[in-house]
Parts: sequence; C-alpha cells; structure tokens
Amino acid sequence: MTTVATLGSHCALQVLKGAKIEGLKTLLVCEKKREKLYKRFAFIDEIFLVDSFSEILDQKCVSFLEKNNSILIPHGTLIAQMSSKQIESIKTPIFGNKWILRWEADRTLKEKLMRAADFDLPKTIPSPKDIHNLVIAKRHGAAGGKGYFLATSEKEYKKKRDNLIKQGLIKVDEDLYLQEYISGVLAYLQFFYSPLKEEIEFFGVDKRHESDIEGLARIPSPQQMDMTNNPSFNVIANSPLVLRESLLTEVYSIGERFVKASKELVSPGMNGPFCIEGVYDADGNFKTFEFSARIVAGTNIFMEGSPYTSLLYDEPMSMGRRISREIKEADSKNQLDKVVT
Ligand code: AMP
Repeated sequence: MTTVATLGSHCALQVLKGAKIEGLKTLLVCEKKREKLYKRFAFIDEIFLVDSFSEILDQKCVSFLEKNNSILIPHGTLIAQMSSKQIESIKTPIFGNKWILRWEADRTLKEKLMRAADFDLPKTIPSPKDIHNLVIAKRHGAAGGKGYFLATSEKEYKKKRDNLIKQGLIKVDEDLYLQEYISGVLAYLQFFYSPLKEEIEFFGVDKRHESDIEGLARIPSPQQMDMTNNPSFNVIANSPLVLRESLLTEVYSIGERFVKASKELVSPGMNGPFCIEGVYDADGNFKTFEFSARIVAGTNIFMEGSPYTSLLYDEPMSMGRRISREIKEADSKNQLDKVVT
C-alpha cells in the first residue's frame, strides 16, 4: 500500500488526515521536540523521529520511507529549511514537481515564471537609489515575511536595513528585494491541477494575519509616529475569504495561465496544489507578488472543504485529501509517474 509522508509542521495534520480518509497509510517525519504534539493524533500511523529535518537525506530515513512505499508531500517547511539542491536530491518520490520548488525559492526564476504566465506584477525597484514611492523590502526564500519592511526613501531604507543587519537577519543589500507596495485587499488563491484529468480546480482563498504589521491599525497615528521598531510581516494565522463572483473568471484564468507557463518552462509543469498570492487594487485588478508551488498552510482553514470545493465535490474535500485522491487514482491506473517527480 502507498504511504503518504510529510514533515511534522505547516500542514502535516491536514495532509495526513486527508490521506487517512482516503484509506492510505500515513507517516510523519517528526522532530523529537514535537513528538508529543503529533502523538495526539490517531490518524498518524508511523512516526520517524529526527533531530532536524535535513535527516530526510540520510540513508536511515530514506530506507524507512522506501520500506513504507512512501510518497513525500512537500510543504513550506521543506522549502524554508532545505536548499533547492537538497530538495532535488531527495530519493523519495515527491508529490507534484520538485523541480519547480527551485523556481519558488529563487526570486529571478520566480519573476520569470510569473511574467510567462502574463501576471500583472508590482514593479521591481532595481536599487535603493530608485525608491521614490512606498516600497516593500523582502528577504529571499520562504522567510514567511519576517524582517520585511516598508520605506519611502533611500534614507529610510538604509536605516531599516542597518537594523536588520544588526539583528543578524541579513548581511548585505543583495539579501533584500525591493518591490512597489500595492494597497488593497490581499488574497491567496489556492488551486489544484490534476495532470490525470488535465483540469484545474479552484480550492479556496484565504488571507493571512501577519505580525506585527496587523497590530499597527489598532494604534492611533500620534503613537505610531513615536514608534521606532520595524513592523514585520510574520505569518501567524489565516482566515477564509470568499470573492465577488464576478472575479472568478479571472481567478480561473490566472490558475490556467500559471499551469500553461510552468509546462513550458519547468517540465512536467505545475502538478498538484499551488497558490497565487497578491493584492486586489482599487479597480479589482489582481497584482500578483508571489506564488507557492506546493500546498500552502492557508488550506488548513478548509479541512472540511471550502465554499468552492463544495461546488466541485459532494463530500468534504480538503487539499490534503485531494492530494491523496490523486495518488490513489494514479496508482489504480498505473500512472504514479504522472503525479510524482
Ligand atoms: P511574500 O513573502 O512575498 O509572500 O510577502 C509577505 C507579505 O508581505 C505578504 O503576505 C503581504 O502582506 C506583504 N506583501 C508582499 N508584497 C507586497 C506588495 N507588493 N504590496 C503589498 N504587500 C505586499
């Protein structure tokens, strides 16, 4: 029997619960410090304990996963804690396209793919000298928004940059990426593309609660003016959104353009779950600033399905469950090679 395996963090509970509902065996690679948490959940069949997630590359772990006939579900923790080279060298079959994860982690590749998908992107600011309007400075990789800051001038940028250097979060200017700040409604669009059905499914949309930028709106402006610390964009939680129905045509088009571009640029394309992240501006246009080429933690809201999955399925369908459904279907048709890399 196929086993669904993942790292103990991010959306592991949703992924493994979904696998169990679909009748598959479940396996968690778990840091010792979190064993107590995950032991609470009866749907986890096997726990492989490690000191750090990089042990997934070690022979002992590889053999255990192999013995269990595992397929590894990648999520944000894998991207955050391992280099693209390490991820690509994982011997266990990975659900989706492991090669596209490099395109998620590298800003230049990321922008190339988003342009190929014909997304409307916020402007990139080439150098701090070019800061004349509100910009957001972001760290590379899946930093989860920690250490990001806003600036309206080169002077302000330098002050905040020096602060980050002091905190040890960055070393040089090149560790930061500058982008036009877009004001509007942030939305994280969750999709699943099935290479078996060659069809895209819109799974749901969430917003992120980021600390401590979100707390700023509760502080009156005179006190804000006196504040010296940099608010950050550290994701703490997610909550659900539903979109105006008139926006859905464009939502599907965004997902389909992304799948098409990824097929052209990074074979075998964007299979499985992904998320397109951006801001609806005052005219309802979606400006995309990011994508995640794997399941996002925002799907955890919809463990019992979302308003959009209830339109597609007559049963509660989480993203985790949808992954296992695809694995089962591929397995029954002898086409597992279509859904893993
Ligand atoms: P990211 O790492 O690109 O997902 O960004 C983390 C957070 O920064 C997002 O969830 C947004 O709150 C914010 N953000 C990123 N880019 C922009 C942008 N261009 N305009 C406005 N907010 C942004």
